[in-house]
Amino acid sequence: MKKPNYGVKKSDQKKPASGQRVSNFQPRERRREEYAKVNGGVFVYSKPISVAELSKAINVPTPAIIKYLFLRGKAVTINQVLDDETIGELCLEFGYDFKKEKIVDEEHFEELEVQDDEADLKERPAVVTIMGHVDHGKTTLIDAIRSSHIVDTEAGGISQEIGAYQKEVHGKKITFIDTPGHAAFTAMRARGASVTDIVVLVVAADDGVMPQTIEAIDHAKAAGVPIIVAINKMDKPGVHPERVKEELMQHDVIAEDYGGDVMTVEISAKKGMGIDDLLDMILLKAEMLELKANPKRYAIGAVLESELSKGEGPKATLLVQNGTLTAGDYVVVGETYGKIRRMTNEYRQVLKAAGPGTPVSVIGLSAVPSAGDKFMAFPEERQAKEIAEKRQLSKQAKERSGSSAMTLADLNNLVNAGKVKDVNVVVKADSDGTAEALKHNLEKMSTDSIKVRVLLASAGAISDNDVLLASASHAIIFGFNVRPDARVRQKAEENHVEIRLHKIIYELLDDMEAAMKGMVKAEVVESVTGQAEIRHIYKIGKVGTIGGSYVTSGLIKNGAKIRLLRDGVVIYDGKLGSLKRFKDDAKEVKEGYECGLTIEGYNDIKEGDIVEAYEMVEKTEGGAA
Ligand code: GDP
Repeated sequence: MKKPNYGVKKSDQKKPASGQRVSNFQPRERRREEYAKVNGGVFVYSKPISVAELSKAINVPTPAIIKYLFLRGKAVTINQVLDDETIGELCLEFGYDFKKEKIVDEEHFEELEVQDDEADLKERPAVVTIMGHVDHGKTTLIDAIRSSHIVDTEAGGISQEIGAYQKEVHGKKITFIDTPGHAAFTAMRARGASVTDIVVLVVAADDGVMPQTIEAIDHAKAAGVPIIVAINKMDKPGVHPERVKEELMQHDVIAEDYGGDVMTVEISAKKGMGIDDLLDMILLKAEMLELKANPKRYAIGAVLESELSKGEGPKATLLVQNGTLTAGDYVVVGETYGKIRRMTNEYRQVLKAAGPGTPVSVIGLSAVPSAGDKFMAFPEERQAKEIAEKRQLSKQAKERSGSSAMTLADLNNLVNAGKVKDVNVVVKADSDGTAEALKHNLEKMSTDSIKVRVLLASAGAISDNDVLLASASHAIIFGFNVRPDARVRQKAEENHVEIRLHKIIYELLDDMEAAMKGMVKAEVVESVTGQAEIRHIYKIGKVGTIGGSYVTSGLIKNGAKIRLLRDGVVIYDGKLGSLKRFKDDAKEVKEGYECGLTIEGYNDIKEGDIVEAYEMVEKTEGGAA
């Protein structure tokens, strides 16, 4: 077997001039050919690696690496972990480019901000959702779009199977999400999946702006998704599109011909009129949005819908948002994982690969995911399994510890952690005038660091939809002289949405202000609640050592954090294990009373020791909260 030539032939060896970079190896170009066989000559790594690992990855024997470093005054062993600088130097020396990938916690892939190289980014199809008031023609429009531009290769006529489809217009694709209505859009967003790039708002010209039109506007605005208005039913006699535009203006949707930036188009979904114009506008908007993705990476995306199919098991429609999903990939969805056994498009054609913006129906998942769940693909089963298991664990932990609900109290922590800059609020009041006034006053509270965004301020009871909107936008609902019914209340609970009800305007504003003050400066400080002196020691087999004590000041609460002081010195910091008055468990024991106590995980207490109970409290500017 011919040994690769890592070193130089003896005859070639020259003594390096002092200060000159010592290179004991062949010219870079030649080495590149010999070694750079993986990943097109780019060595990609994400964590520090050892000499042995690098050797394997770049296909250069360990002695060559060790020797190279040794000649530069670095003595390393085979298992030594190399720093980034050395890894870089070695890669260059052996003809590789190198790239350190940002370590992302793949367990939390829904929060993962995808970092792709600009060079890898390619244009991707826009994802469009159609919204509007009931009976304004959403379904008819979806059908009209679907049946337009059908080309033979699309297997026209075969009934479509999944809740999203792609349309090719002027050689470019547009992806339409089929489920019309706000619930789907908002429910997805509530689960963290913002899949929509553009909302087409259907408004019937004969009916004008109606409550669900306004809702759709609110939802799209809250999501920061641009709107294209399709004024429908233009075939009807005596309809006035200008009236619709004027009504929309009252909701800050300002058409281009009224000096705004919202594109509008007049259509008849029923007669198929204006559909091409609408599609052109979508393409134009998509171009303006410069939607790009990296087809080279492993896929990441969201579940659009799912079901349990009798013959095939869990089945889901996935939207690939970035990367390419390939049949055979392992995917983590929610807390489960599986292998993509079969992947089909909307015409039931089997696909091998699906790039960014493509909706696909897949089978092979181990459980039925929820719409809005994010998914991520991995090359190896081991990875997918590991991450799914981790996610399962953290979900359980989260469930145990309540939820990550957004409440006024929680805002504190989030703001301090730098995670919240905007406070989103939904206002429902007993009249439009009050709602407007509250909106105005709440927004006026914005400071340099925290912006109060009122997503919606309107008259009426707190509804399901308000809860969905709040949930999707991590907003708090303020109700003024209105109340949610039991069902809405339950929905709010399920979605961890906080509803704060008030009857007096300034109390509502105070509530907000107090929370914002807390947000700006919430310092956790320690507060001693009381002290007890240990006067007798009882040793009881299973229980351990009990301190018969006397509360000398304040009060001692069961389960409290404590410090054990001996001669004024802290000898242990921990937590009470139990607290009893006579034989019974006590919630708290006040100054002047006797009690028996144990310290969790600590038995070495002595007569004369002082138990000092304390708690951590949040301190706001105005004092302790
Ligand atoms: P959706 O509730 O928004 O999905 O509305 P549909 O698509 O079900 O339409 C409601 C009604 O309006 C149906 O009877 C449609 O036939 C009718 N419709 C929809 N588009 C048009 C249109 O462009 N012109 C006329 N005249 N009727 C339409």
